[in-house]
Amino acid sequence: MFKTGYRANNNVKECNQCGKCCIKYSNGRLTTAASQIDYWYDHKPEIYKYVKDGNIWFDPETGKQIELCPWLRKEPNQNKYTCEIYFDRPDDCKFYPSTLDEMVADDCEMIEEKDLANPKQGQKSLDIIMKDSRQEFEY
Ligand code: SF4
Ligand code: SF4
Repeated sequence: MFKTGYRANNNVKECNQCGKCCIKYSNGRLTTAASQIDYWYDHKPEIYKYVKDGNIWFDPETGKQIELCPWLRKEPNQNKYTCEIYFDRPDDCKFYPSTLDEMVADDCEMIEEKDLANPKQGQKSLDIIMKDSRQEFEY
């Protein structure tokens, strides 16, 4: 979510920060590695407090599942969003989007008509754009 980077062969646009993926998946549909949760526990208590039994995101006060990701911020006067914990975001956020089918289902704005016409090339372009975001992190 919120990827920018190299654009291959003019396929698959950069993320325009429309926020649709964050809004769709933040209500209990995001996961991350246990090692990242351990990292938050040790180094990012402000994030860890939204974790409950290894799941994200829960209200630290009520213990209830949060409807909308607490780290999603809307830019003033723009239809554009940012992530307040971008460099510490969950693994699912780092890996999204992973397939063209997922992008179509979510109406992701990175996709272009020509990607649908040539899905093999579209997927290749997506994988190149996402390479940095998907890299393994040592927690
Ligand atoms: S953690 Fe960041 S990237 Fe992930 S859903 Fe929330 S705002 Fe979006
Ligand atoms: S839906 Fe696609 S274009 Fe919109 S923020 Fe998510 S990754 Fe970016």
